Amino acid sequence: MTTDHRLIGIAWRLDRLRWVPREVLAEIVLRDGLCMWGWADDEPAWQDERLTDQELAAVLCSGCPVQDECLELELRTAGLDTVGVWGALSEDNRRALYPHWRQRGERAEDGATP
Ligand code: SF4
Repeated sequence: MTTDHRLIGIAWRLDRLRWVPREVLAEIVLRDGLCMWGWADDEPAWQDERLTDQELAAVLCSGCPVQDECLELELRTAGLDTVGVWGALSEDNRRALYPHWRQRGERAEDGATP
């Protein structure tokens, strides 16, 4: 599957979150996001490795139950200005995803979308 097809698939998948308010997404991500709780007892093996953003996204977000909510929230709040790793994607991949995601139509609180 090409990257474009993969991104279009992700944009479609995020449709289910279209009308979820931003504050609810934030609550879900803060409550259930894997990286929100740190790794106090079990520091990740990759911590000292030099990873690309894509590699970091793959390991950091692996197994996180709220990847889609995190991604939807970041696309809404940061848009094309997104930086770092969020929603299991690198910033380059989120910027590439953004136009596909916008094409899917309106979201909750769309007036505030960048
Ligand atoms: S998807 Fe990644 S960045 Fe977002 S909450 Fe989960 S672990 Fe953190």
